[in-house]
Amino acid sequence: MEPLSIDEIRGSFVNSTRSLVKAMTPPPGLTELPWESLDFLGWRDPKAPNRGYLVVQRDGGVTGIALNTQASTKPRRGTGLCDLCNTAHQITDVALFAARRAGKPGREGNTVGTYICADLACSLYLRGLRDLDVPQGETISPERRIDRLADRLDTFVSRVLT
Ligand SMILES: [Zn+2]
Repeated sequence: MEPLSIDEIRGSFVNSTRSLVKAMTPPPGLTELPWESLDFLGWRDPKAPNRGYLVVQRDGGVTGIALNTQASTKPRRGTGLCDLCNTAHQITDVALFAARRAGKPGREGNTVGTYICADLACSLYLRGLRDLDVPQGETISPERRIDRLADRLDTFVSRVLT
C-alpha cells in the first residue's frame, strides 16, 4: 500500500466516534513501516490492549475500521486460523475482533466479528517477514494467498460499511 500520514489515518475511520479516534494511539514507527509489504495497516493500541485498528486503501480512498477484542480468561490450547490471511497460529495468537458497523446499524449495536491474527500482521506472515510457531497447512503460493487476503479484506470492509 501507499504510505499514509497520521492525519489520513485519523480521518479514515468509518465506525468510530470522534473521541475514540482522538484517544487512538498511532501505529508505532509510522514513518518506517514496510508499506510496500502491507496489504493493510493493522495495529493494536499499546495504551488500550482491547482495541485494534485496520486501515485499507480501496476505491481510491482510505477506510479505517476500529476493532475490539476481549482477552479470554479461559486457558486455551491448540491452534487457530486467521479468517483474513488463513495463517495458523497458537490459539492465543488469533483474536476474535468485533467491528462496529458503520452508521445507524452500528449505533444500534450491530457488529461484524472475525478471527484475525492477534497482532494484525497478516501481510508480514504471508510474506515470511514475521516468524510463525506452528506448522502451516497451506499448499498454495504466497501470491495467491496475498490475492485471497485482498478479497477477504474487501468482503470484511464491505460488511462493516453496509
Ligand atoms: Zn491474519
